[in-house]
Amino acid sequence: MEHYYQPEIETASRETLTRIQNDRLVKTVKRVYENVPLYRQRMDEAGVRPEDVKGIEDLRKLPFTQKQDLRDTYPYGMFAVPMDDVVRLHASSGTTGKQIVVGYTQKDLDMWGECVARMLSAIGAEKKDKLHVAYGFGLFTGGFGLYEGARRMGCTSIPVSSGNTARQLTIMQDFESDILACTPSYAMYLGESAEKAGIDTKALPLRAGIFGAEPWTEEMRKGIEKSLNIKAYDIYGLTEIMGPGVSFECSCQAGMHVNEDHFIIEILDPETHEPLPDGQKGEIVFTCLDKEAFPLIRFRTKDIGTVTHEKCACGRTFVRMSKPMGRTDDMLIIRGVNVFPSQIETVLLQTGQSPNYQIIVDRVGALDTLEVQVELSEEQFSDRVSDISRVERDLTERLKSLLGIAAKVTLVSPGTVPRSEGKAKRVVDKRRF
Ligand code: ADP
Ligand code: ZN
Repeated sequence: MEHYYQPEIETASRETLTRIQNDRLVKTVKRVYENVPLYRQRMDEAGVRPEDVKGIEDLRKLPFTQKQDLRDTYPYGMFAVPMDDVVRLHASSGTTGKQIVVGYTQKDLDMWGECVARMLSAIGAEKKDKLHVAYGFGLFTGGFGLYEGARRMGCTSIPVSSGNTARQLTIMQDFESDILACTPSYAMYLGESAEKAGIDTKALPLRAGIFGAEPWTEEMRKGIEKSLNIKAYDIYGLTEIMGPGVSFECSCQAGMHVNEDHFIIEILDPETHEPLPDGQKGEIVFTCLDKEAFPLIRFRTKDIGTVTHEKCACGRTFVRMSKPMGRTDDMLIIRGVNVFPSQIETVLLQTGQSPNYQIIVDRVGALDTLEVQVELSEEQFSDRVSDISRVERDLTERLKSLLGIAAKVTLVSPGTVPRSEGKAKRVVDKRRF
């Protein structure tokens, strides 16, 4: 039996969803036009009046927003309510440049909790479950976002926050955590550390995990499911739009359902901005339908992904988006070729290598160089040198045929690639442009 948090909305007909979206979009556009100078100016420049937007079919008349707009109006220029009504601030983790700040009203926090509670229900969480939150609590949205959802659902939250791995494992055992939430790279690390500490994860109550905030592959999912002996689910979100819970995986683990009564997703050709059909890769663009404090319209996420309107076996009618396949600004251009770190990661994991790697890009003379440092496993470490060079050659060949350019693969001793307890830093680009 599939669990829903709000079945009437999660399984609503397309007509109902469209009606909700139309209503909410009209109100939000009017509100931002009246309250946020940037929108008024952009809409005036584009010759669009709020009354020209009668529903979602008029969405494409509206101008885009992007991260730079948030930086230009930093800190509070894009808030659509008086500061008096703002009850919480968060800031982006700053993975890509200067941080930005966002705000929430009481109602925004309720809505956020609702979105995350839908995700918790979808993976079979119940009130009696204990949610171990190892996302950071702070300006980063991860910790508090999951916490809001647990509170809404009535689960017991354990706000451990990030870091201190030994303590995480002790709490997981002593407090009997049922569900774990953290970044996928940290989940891998927790799995490894549990093994090292001789903890039998099969004997723990832990049965599911909610992992997001950074790209991860199906191979990583299998690795985490095995080492922690759990089911691993994906959750997507971004600070600008809300935080975790913009979209979430259901029990089918086949794409993430977008909370469409709160957010509209568009997949656009990054160059022409034309909408792309189901299944075709493009830039993900979101519009907030009912956020009060910080409602972004047509925000270009720079994430690349696809959507499908196909019916999901879980019964939810919300569209599903793919796992983002990297960001347009994550994409490395090496000797003119587009390379996504996730492509390299997939090869490593498919060939049974460790997920601990770092990509180093440099420039020698006029030529870009690509090096991939991969940690050896303990077993490989004790192998003969000739075996190690065979693995290096094999990986070099596979990467060459996948990427179309040569990469130097270096296997390094276990434990030497910097581990992250938050977001993984996979790429070091030493080139000067
Ligand atoms: P920053 O942009 O500073 O990293 P955020 O914490 O808001 O700040 O990160 C949001 C970004 O994280 C998304 O735009 C996306 O690129 C990435 N992300 C979030 N969830 C996932 C996920 N489940 N899979 C892949 N990438 C994700
Ligand atoms: Zn589903």
